[in-house]
Amino acid sequence: MQKIQNYIDGELNDSLSRNYIDNYNPSEGSVYSLIPDSDERDVQLAAKAAVRAFPVWSAMPVAERAALLMKIADLIERDHNLLAKAECIDNGKPLSLARSVDIPRASSNMRFFASAVLHFSSESHLTDDKAINYTTRKPVGVAGCISPWNLPLYLFTWKIAPALAAGNTVVAKPSEVTPMTAYLFSKICIEAGLPAGVLNIVHGLGAKVGQAIVAHPDIPLISFTGGTTTGKAIAAAAAPMFKKLSLELGGKNPNIIFDDCDLQNTIEVSLRSSFSNQGQICLCGSRILVQSGIYNQFLKQFVDRVAALKVGDPMESGSDIGAVVSQAHMNKVLAYIDLARKEGGEIQCGGQQVKVSGRCEKGYFIAPTVITGLDYTCKVNQEEIFGPVVTVMPFDSEEEVVNYANSTVYGLSATIFTDSLKRAHRVADELKCGIVWVNCWLLRDLRTPFGGVKQSGVGREGGEEALRFFTEAKNVCVSL
Ligand code: NAD
Repeated sequence: MQKIQNYIDGELNDSLSRNYIDNYNPSEGSVYSLIPDSDERDVQLAAKAAVRAFPVWSAMPVAERAALLMKIADLIERDHNLLAKAECIDNGKPLSLARSVDIPRASSNMRFFASAVLHFSSESHLTDDKAINYTTRKPVGVAGCISPWNLPLYLFTWKIAPALAAGNTVVAKPSEVTPMTAYLFSKICIEAGLPAGVLNIVHGLGAKVGQAIVAHPDIPLISFTGGTTTGKAIAAAAAPMFKKLSLELGGKNPNIIFDDCDLQNTIEVSLRSSFSNQGQICLCGSRILVQSGIYNQFLKQFVDRVAALKVGDPMESGSDIGAVVSQAHMNKVLAYIDLARKEGGEIQCGGQQVKVSGRCEKGYFIAPTVITGLDYTCKVNQEEIFGPVVTVMPFDSEEEVVNYANSTVYGLSATIFTDSLKRAHRVADELKCGIVWVNCWLLRDLRTPFGGVKQSGVGREGGEEALRFFTEAKNVCVSL
């Protein structure tokens, strides 16, 4: 059985523990590879290598650093099919999605930050005619990057690329649920000639490897994407050490549909925002709020379209919905569907596990599920489910829907559907979240700030925000 290895100080090795964790193929429900069960000793080696590599990497001319990152992007593109297949097997997502979204985005992350850093400039301020202030931005040191399982290589590179481009060295931990593409990425880094110790990838459990990264005294900044509960634990551990923190956490995002919207576009976009990647994207719109005038019309057309989505072998091109990531996650999502029934919800379609025949008969598949009849305050409408499950609720006024939308502890994103430009701006302004889409969803420009408010996180990723996070500003004031 294939064994994944850690990438520390430029080499691929087993963990010092010599123990392994099973890696599951969620569409088959079986173990297909082994993950090093690393611990703080491996993190210690990785941190040492990263500390050693920092003076060399941070002093390298920025154009040379950028060229190396561009080379890594080239190699991701060369290995596009291999990486997409690996992501599909490891995560359960449709191969078509891994091909069109995950892997292309991983190479664009590398390219984007390799070029962005070339344009990253210092600020200066003339203070009346008394002084010139100039602000330098230097890399911080060793960055700890911890990522989740839903968009494995996509989110892994989203952190690593700006960290490295800005001149930091990195100790990274991919999710133990989906480690394969990070392992393949480490081979790409070796082939590209990334100097030893610049990037170190330690595989294993959050409670061992993740915690050891967060607690390590030589790792002064942590970039984390994952669940809100984990984010709280990381914030609590990092705060007494005054680490720089970026936390991208959960969401419970509303789709707000006004009765003057373009209904066909709204249905198309809502299908994607509800069920892409089996609903396992932090930006998925899981609460669909529809103005009363078009509620029945929307619900009928939407449910017809959802019921026609094909749940099936993610390797097959006709499959719209693949497997959810693990048995534990499937059980969690199914428990929320049961809770919805108990809370008085009506299942309009889906609502159960799906048995896919053939090689996938033991896989973790859930029918895309639409639930109505729930109050906006109930648990199903307040807690993150992170699966192919959405609720649909009617509303009458703008004021009412803004209240529904803002009622959760989360504040990551929202989508508004309307033909009224004034209303779109007005509602966008009132929503308590970090990202708003109008008549579209997940249309990404990597220059824009990305992140949430309230319990959806702290800080922003993307563009200059990321380069600022991964650098420390120093202001020098020169008297004239
Ligand atoms: P998770 O919090 O369970 O795990 C995320 C990562 O943290 C994994 O690598 C895990 O091993 C590690 N980890 C776990 N415990 C740790 C600890 N005590 N210390 C340090 N590291 C630890 O999240 P998940 O289940 O992998 O991902 C799903 C969650 O991620 C959802 O809540 C989703 O909304 C969120 N997410 C957010 C964004 C965003 O940009 N806001 C993007 C994608 C996913």
